[in-house]
Amino acid sequence: MKRVADRLLIAGVGLIGGSLALALRQRGLVGEIVGLGRSRRNMRVALERGIIDRVERDPARAAEGVDLVVVAVPVGAIAAVVAGLAPHLPERAVITDAGSVKGPVVGAVERTLGASASRFCGAHPIAGTENSGAAAATATLLEAERCVLTPTPRTSRTTVRRTRALWAGAGMRVETLPAAEHDPIFALVSHLPHIAAFALVQTVADAGSASRALTYAAGGFRDGTRVAGSSPEMWADIFLANRRAVTKAIDQFVGSCTRLRNAIAAEDREALEAALADAQRVRRRLSSPGHASARRRRP
Ligand code: NAD
Repeated sequence: MKRVADRLLIAGVGLIGGSLALALRQRGLVGEIVGLGRSRRNMRVALERGIIDRVERDPARAAEGVDLVVVAVPVGAIAAVVAGLAPHLPERAVITDAGSVKGPVVGAVERTLGASASRFCGAHPIAGTENSGAAAATATLLEAERCVLTPTPRTSRTTVRRTRALWAGAGMRVETLPAAEHDPIFALVSHLPHIAAFALVQTVADAGSASRALTYAAGGFRDGTRVAGSSPEMWADIFLANRRAVTKAIDQFVGSCTRLRNAIAAEDREALEAALADAQRVRRRLSSPGHASARRRRP
């Protein structure tokens, strides 16, 4: 495989940015990797783990001689980071991001870049864990997972090709989707499960006997709430950026909960079992060996 960049800049060397860097380095697909970060402690970890070769705090210095930029910071900060780097980047440099919400992010970045918006291609690597920071990054996190690119009519063909090569270089299966389709889909399959997990933990914690109840929490509670251990900063950004689709998904979920609740309250065993069986059928399809989501352990 050909090198994806001689000098790669990763802005936000956390779980995703760090995992991308490790995967590319392991495959020998990059020359130098520069890290731009906010937290000194995290950047020290990134250096110690060999994820990046050097740290820059000043965007102008970070952008020097760079061929490719990956902005892997929380969704709400992506456009501002691009705005800081853009005036200093060489003409050939292509920019991509890792944000979990695409419509508002791509719109804001394109507005920021103005006439040079052709050098940006939005991306969402569909892989992750509830852990954050460079310490949690692994060379295998992204491997064999999907990565959705969301180019617009303004994105140049060269930018799409180089962005595709970057994420494919980390072992990802790259596909494209318009941002307007991406956001409602991920509101349902990613953002809603996180809402449900946060709400589930909150419900138990708010119950009078919470501390005692939690002592008895076993597999079901742990499995259903694993992602509630995720970063509040990152997820608040995601929920707010995708608020229209997320609030619609929450309303649909409340509707499903209410139907189950009513069947239970009315002792309507037939309706209850039918609803549970429908859900069981769909869930079992997800676990079947042929289904994409069954290939890896993480959602
Ligand atoms: P993370 O918290 O592990 O890493 C983000 C890093 O960005 C942190 O090190 C933080 O210090 C740094 N940062 C924050 N603001 C910054 C700024 N203004 N300038 C420079 N650095 C800054 O988070 P992550 O899980 O790697 O997520 C990064 C991006 O990837 C987010 O946009 C998220 O939506 C997306 N994403 C996350 C997952 C997941 O499951 N964690 C999956 C797919 C995509």
